[in-house]
Amino acid sequence: MDYSIDNNGYYGEFGGAYIPEILHGTVQKLKEAFYAIKDDASFRAEYYDLLKNYVGRPSPLYFAKRLSEKYGTKIYLKREDLNHTGAHKINNALGQILLAKRMGKTRIIAETGAGQHGVATATACALMGLECIVFMGKTDVERQFVNVQKMRMLGATVEAVTSGSATLKDATNEAIRYWCSNPDAFYIIGSTVGPHPYPDMVGFFQSVISEEIKWQLQEQIGRDYPDYLIACVGGGSNAMGTYYHFINDERVKIISAEAGGRGIESGETAATISVGTIGIIHGFRTLLMQDADGQITEPYSISAGLDYPGIGPAHAYYAQVGRTKVLPVNDDEALEAAFELTQLEGIIPAIESAHAMAVLKKEKGTFKPDDIVVINVSGRGDKDLDTFLKYFKPKP
Ligand SMILES: *Cc1c(COP(=O)(O)O)cnc(C)c1O
Repeated sequence: MDYSIDNNGYYGEFGGAYIPEILHGTVQKLKEAFYAIKDDASFRAEYYDLLKNYVGRPSPLYFAKRLSEKYGTKIYLKREDLNHTGAHKINNALGQILLAKRMGKTRIIAETGAGQHGVATATACALMGLECIVFMGKTDVERQFVNVQKMRMLGATVEAVTSGSATLKDATNEAIRYWCSNPDAFYIIGSTVGPHPYPDMVGFFQSVISEEIKWQLQEQIGRDYPDYLIACVGGGSNAMGTYYHFINDERVKIISAEAGGRGIESGETAATISVGTIGIIHGFRTLLMQDADGQITEPYSISAGLDYPGIGPAHAYYAQVGRTKVLPVNDDEALEAAFELTQLEGIIPAIESAHAMAVLKKEKGTFKPDDIVVINVSGRGDKDLDTFLKYFKPKP
């Protein structure tokens, strides 16, 4: 089976481009520009030079010995946490900013929830000397003040959005509204969401993750594919990057961890694939957390990076056709997994990435001693230290 996107930007029944008339020309030009550079050698050279010399790629693929002993299988960690700015998001921000530059754009806009994508975009804009406006819900501005200060230090303007619940979905609405009245701005979307071609484009710019996993496995174990791939999904970009070069290889089994919050029955969850129904949000058709009237319900997760009420269309499709197994991971399970990785391997993961780590315990009986299990550590945990310390009382 071929799991690729179709010519109209759909993965099965999910995806597409549901955009106001005023943006049609803009999105059309973006599509043409992206598919023109996608396989262009000079673009690739420029992009890979930045990934290597600015981001610090390739990120290591690390055999986690003590964790492997504990779970009785062979566990390899893809260390996206070691990237400049602390997560995978910079891969995408740099790809899109190079595209923006080639299109002659001078003003960049972005939405952000926890601020991670905002910081990655502001970083890319500082690097390229481009104007940067980041839309962020007012609630998030207050919750994530360090990231706001970082963006400002990097020279970006942070627009605090007060509509709705003043969180990520409202920031995205506002960014789209601004884009409609300023279609010359380049909108850098931070995950595999939004109208076509964004999900495909963001997935492509993150695909360097699985490209590296392939040759790193070949180098380390003499075989270029794992038995299992595991990643967390918020909008789905680090997962898409991790799966990209393996999606049509059925030897590779894939498990996605979504944020269960306080439990999928609790009403306080962000497990969109588990509890969502079909709808349209932010320009694409996907599974959504919504009430009977089609009003978006506010997602909840301990992890700010995973609480989006939708899901990338590719992931909705992979789950529907059984290509991926999707597990909701609750707050307490993620916290426990974060602590375990820290104490067994000396790696403090982002709370988002800890959701992927928690799959080891949840699926304990699944992995055999000789199985090669690759888990993407999407980011580092510095930003989550307050959260971790609230739950765990370290020895004095
Ligand atoms: C933003 C973020 C995520 C979630 O976004 P995806 O697009 O689903 O990858 C996961 N991990 C980290 C560290 C993040 O910053």
